Amino acid sequence: MSIRLRIGVIGGGIAGLTAAYRLASRGHEVILWERQRQLGGQAAAFPLLGTALEYFYHHLFMSDHDIVALIKELGIADRLVWLPSRVGFYAAGRIYPLSSALDVLRLGVVPFHDRLRIGLVTFYLQHVRDWRRFEEVTAEEWLRRWVGARAFDRVWGAQLRAKFGPRAGDVAMVWFWNKIFLRTQSRRSLFERERLGYIMGSFNVLIDRLADAIRERGGTVLAGVGVDAVERSGDAWVVRESTGRAMPVDVIVATVPSPLIAKLFPQLPEIYRVKLLGTVYQAAVTLLLQTHRQLSDIYWLNIGDPDLPYTGIIEHTNFVPASYYQGRHLIYVSKYVEQTHPYLALRDEEVLAAAIQHLPKVNPAFSADWIEDYWVFRERAAQPIVTVRYRAQIPDHRTPLPGVYVANTAQIYPEDRGTNYSVRLGNVVADLVCDDVRTGRLTVATSAARDVTS
Ligand SMILES: Cc1cc2nc3c(=O)[nH]c(=O)nc-3n(C[C@H](O)[C@H](O)[C@H](O)COP(=O)(O)OP(=O)(O)OC[C@H]3O[C@@H](n4cnc5c(N)ncnc54)[C@H](O)[C@@H]3O)c2cc1C
Repeated sequence: MSIRLRIGVIGGGIAGLTAAYRLASRGHEVILWERQRQLGGQAAAFPLLGTALEYFYHHLFMSDHDIVALIKELGIADRLVWLPSRVGFYAAGRIYPLSSALDVLRLGVVPFHDRLRIGLVTFYLQHVRDWRRFEEVTAEEWLRRWVGARAFDRVWGAQLRAKFGPRAGDVAMVWFWNKIFLRTQSRRSLFERERLGYIMGSFNVLIDRLADAIRERGGTVLAGVGVDAVERSGDAWVVRESTGRAMPVDVIVATVPSPLIAKLFPQLPEIYRVKLLGTVYQAAVTLLLQTHRQLSDIYWLNIGDPDLPYTGIIEHTNFVPASYYQGRHLIYVSKYVEQTHPYLALRDEEVLAAAIQHLPKVNPAFSADWIEDYWVFRERAAQPIVTVRYRAQIPDHRTPLPGVYVANTAQIYPEDRGTNYSVRLGNVVADLVCDDVRTGRLTVATSAARDVTS
């Protein structure tokens, strides 16, 4: 490497940490800012029952090659396990197992003829690789046509409504195709249960290792320090930290949600800002219950019943055994909502009280005295909504501003956002920066670098 730049990374989630690790590995001086006191963003975990657990339920699919490669590279592959998972579907007041092709044929919420259609369409989607044909049509239009109105409304339409609310009808078919396609990749045969990956000890094991690797390479990781503003000064960018300090850098990689990037860089040209501001995210509110009894035997329960007003119930201890958590059961009650939804503003006790009313629908024996502890977590930019012709709206990693790059979840496409793709974002943006330095496309006077060495 001929030039050593000072590179600022905004955001200490998986994308920011990966980008910082790659850039520091190539000899650049890296500074990473994370507004929260804890690193890891949406994938972070908190100490619980002698180990740690994610604020939001997390697993990996077998197709998650980028994150698995990173885990191996960082020497923590012994912590990654692949465990069988049980999937279910809650509809018409009961749980239907939905872990295999045979389960689809037993999905009594629709007549047998509809189940066959769902099975055939699933099989078809699992084998389509050319996703471009699904970019210009909504999931609702396409699925209604191929499985029929009744099967759509009771099964897939119900799940889309549970995740996207009033925006369900806008979701592109390409997003839905990916969901079906990926789940197949985590199964060796149609009749076998899928296996999902988990990092024993939580995703914090990866997050902490990444932060250490950045520091070992001379980088600085500042947790609890946000970026409040960014200004241009000569050939450098000056980052105003929440501590009040101003830090000059040559290059910036921003991994925060798109609307925030538009705010941090008001000088961005309109054509790029429109793309940033056009991204709409669903928020997620997750109630985590610690109980002394099992709620059901399903790990991942999709919900397609308006009487149970949640997106999913994820019983983590039906995936990673309760024995790993001192025999306690850990259950996430998850609800995705639009950012203006009143549920997002409920107090923790209100979120809990609502769940206590509804959970007997999943298991009539459930009662509030099973609950030993509970937590409520909220994420506003949980899920970018992928609409038709989304590809044309994705902002480039290279922004029109010199030395400013973007790598965030809104750029993940056609796959759905996830930790694997945030690793890929970090890899891709670090390669871009290094290529631009090598080819002279990124012409910085390295004033920020001189500022530190003088
Ligand atoms: C409910 C839920 C369940 C999920 N389940 C899974 C799963 O099972 N498997 C999976 O792979 N993925 C899952 N994901 C998705 C996955 O966690 C995310 O896609 C991924 O972690 C995003 O990483 P990121 O670095 O791109 O963004 P983020 O994690 O959002 O990181 C951005 C960071 O920027 C910080 N930040 C914001 N503003 C500033 C500022 N001004 N200055 C400094 N820092 C700032 C934020 O605090 C945050 O830490 C789930 C997400 C949710 C919400």
